[in-house]
Amino acid sequence: LSALSRVTRAPADKILGLTEKFNVDRHPNKINLTVGIYKDNRGRVTTFPSVASAQSLLETSLDLNNDLSYLPITGSQDYQNNVLNFLYRESSDGSELLENNRITFVQTLSGTGALAVASKLLATFVSKTVWIPNPSWANHSNVFQWNGFNQIKYYTYYEDGKLSIDKWLKELKESCSSRDPDWPPSIVLHACCHNPTGVDPTLEQWQQILPVIHDLGITPIIDMAYQGMESGNLIQDAYLLRMCLEYEWPNGLFVCQSFAKNMGLYGERVGSLSVVVPPNPLDLKSTIDSQLKKIVRGIYSSPPGYGSRVANLVLSNPKLKQQWFVDVKNMSDRLWNVRIQMHERLNWPNLVDFKTQHGMFYYTGLNPYQVQILQERYGIYLTEDGRMSLSGVNDGNIDYLCDSLRQVVQ
Ligand code: PLP
Repeated sequence: LSALSRVTRAPADKILGLTEKFNVDRHPNKINLTVGIYKDNRGRVTTFPSVASAQSLLETSLDLNNDLSYLPITGSQDYQNNVLNFLYRESSDGSELLENNRITFVQTLSGTGALAVASKLLATFVSKTVWIPNPSWANHSNVFQWNGFNQIKYYTYYEDGKLSIDKWLKELKESCSSRDPDWPPSIVLHACCHNPTGVDPTLEQWQQILPVIHDLGITPIIDMAYQGMESGNLIQDAYLLRMCLEYEWPNGLFVCQSFAKNMGLYGERVGSLSVVVPPNPLDLKSTIDSQLKKIVRGIYSSPPGYGSRVANLVLSNPKLKQQWFVDVKNMSDRLWNVRIQMHERLNWPNLVDFKTQHGMFYYTGLNPYQVQILQERYGIYLTEDGRMSLSGVNDGNIDYLCDSLRQVVQ
């Protein structure tokens, strides 16, 4: 018998598996509201004007795009400078940290790659346990499990249609009172547009949460996949990063950032991991750098080039940058508009309070059975937890969608 027969069948990815099913569905009015990809009001995945301009600049400039050799292990220096500048000079006030050489950086395979590399480093050297919100993006536990964490714990984030901070903090306090001091836990914090609920703590609530996490010695991993999609303003949405930078984190502050959604560069895999390291010992940053390089080298050697060249241009060319801010605002406005229209049409007092939600998703509160009926009878695909990607809703399908939703909750 082949040793390969020991391989057990893994369940299909909860989100991407649904699109496969959707593609072969013959329902004439089918709507895919599963994946978090932004579509315009005509249902098309379009390239942002800022990104399209950067692409045409690259096409006409052989200098910029004719070098298909390897990038360095942790990415191109230009990309590093531009992203660090964007995150720590524009989005937050971390310039002193940059000047004091306290931020390590890796150009990663988008946000998932950043989480994976962070996980590998943390699980190898720092932490045995990672806390993930319940609910959370379905891939979080998968990423941390495959990249070294032998214990994944879930903190209650959302219950009965609202945020549940008291329970969240109580669980952390109770569990951490008996923690192993040599292996302090880590925690995943969604920077904004929490996936799947669309509900984030307010600034006041974060002011209550962060001191607890800090005092318990827990290491924060900020997952910033939707910067700009909460308020429509890229800078405003970096509030969690700004607030975390007000503290010194003895085991580092891990920032996993992605341009997939806010530049529409999904498939190009453009993101970053930056780690704010403590000031002492002086060579700590270069030691961490060396291990991050080793991790990357051992998995995929070096990141891809094209997408980061596009992002570089958008971040460094003032005209394109300005356009990018407009592009993100337009996307966020459309999503908000869809949310309001649905709210008005459905007038669903029994479901989640829509005004507290923002970003790409509408967490409907529908149960798995209702989700199944929507799929089988109406060809409308949501994730099993009742999460609906608003980007798939447009003038052409909103009536059908709302009628079907009404039928299902009746
Ligand atoms: N984190 C969250 C919460 C997400 O929703 C996503 C994507 O859906 C990601 C990270 C990673 O996305 P990507 O790897 O495409 O940047």
